[in-house]
Amino acid sequence: MNNSTETPVTIIGLGLMGQALAGAFLKAGHPTTVWNRTSSKADQLVTEGARLAPTVGDALKAGSLTILCVTDYPALYELLGANDAQLDGTTLINLTSGSSAQAREAARWAEQRGARYLDGAIMAIPPAIGTADAVILHSGPQTDFEAYESTLGVLGTVAYLGADHGLASLYDVAGLAMMWSVLNAWLQGTALLRTAGVDAATYAPFARQIAAGVAEWLPGYAEQIDSGSFPAEVSALESDARAMEHLIEESEAVGVNAELPKLLKAMADRAIAAGHGKEQYPVLIEEFGKIRND
Ligand code: NAP
Repeated sequence: MNNSTETPVTIIGLGLMGQALAGAFLKAGHPTTVWNRTSSKADQLVTEGARLAPTVGDALKAGSLTILCVTDYPALYELLGANDAQLDGTTLINLTSGSSAQAREAARWAEQRGARYLDGAIMAIPPAIGTADAVILHSGPQTDFEAYESTLGVLGTVAYLGADHGLASLYDVAGLAMMWSVLNAWLQGTALLRTAGVDAATYAPFARQIAAGVAEWLPGYAEQIDSGSFPAEVSALESDARAMEHLIEESEAVGVNAELPKLLKAMADRAIAAGHGKEQYPVLIEEFGKIRND
């Protein structure tokens, strides 16, 4: 494993996130080379000790580790491809957001050009970079991750997910699905309670307790999904479906948007129609896993 403070690091892409990444490496004492299409975005980092590479090619040659963080994958290919970048012997860690397919394709593209490639996903905002709150996910060859694990640790809490380059992106979007579902459920409840004069701040601690309680169910429910067996230990799906109907009726009665509960009920109804009404809630995984043709 490379020594954390001596490893030279190159950052390509100095948007809001790239500047935060480069700043964290500089603060930790790493020799840091930067490049950005709009070179003025490097000015502050240069005053802090970064070296601005005149070209992408020079940036890539500055050391063995290059971190890429640009808008999207087309931008990445444009800046590396158009410059016919020499990637031989370089380890690229691509923290640009994208899909799992884009990550796997970029890995093939980079490896064909002689690079080692890890894909990553940043689960944080720029001000959190350099603190333990910044969770950064990586996937690709484990030995390549381990070679730079302590260096990457400067950025936050780093995690390795597995050899499949697509995993970091998949975990990233899975996390977003969780985040938006929890937030929308909270907004639904908040809208309902506001019709009775209960403000959001009053409901928030109660909602938080429910979310935390539901989170406790996940490991047990995950066992049911992984074993493909869904005995109704605490509740059957058909009971959940009846409660969903109450939520829809209540929402409509007080003039609150019922689209989300209707969606949930439609999925439960399909599973019940397929014969799963007496099984437990996670049997709905089959609704999510289906590739629908209708
Ligand atoms: P940003 O501030 O908009 O910066 C975009 C960067 O991409 C700039 O350096 C820009 O260069 C560069 N770029 C775009 N198109 C290019 C091209 N064709 N050729 C060369 N460079 C190009 O975005 P950001 O917030 O730093 O985000 C960067 C990545 O981090 C994104 O994939 C984003 O999803 C991810 N991310 C961001 C956050 C966040 O909170 N900001 C959180 C998690 C993940 P110029 O300066 O020359 O325009």
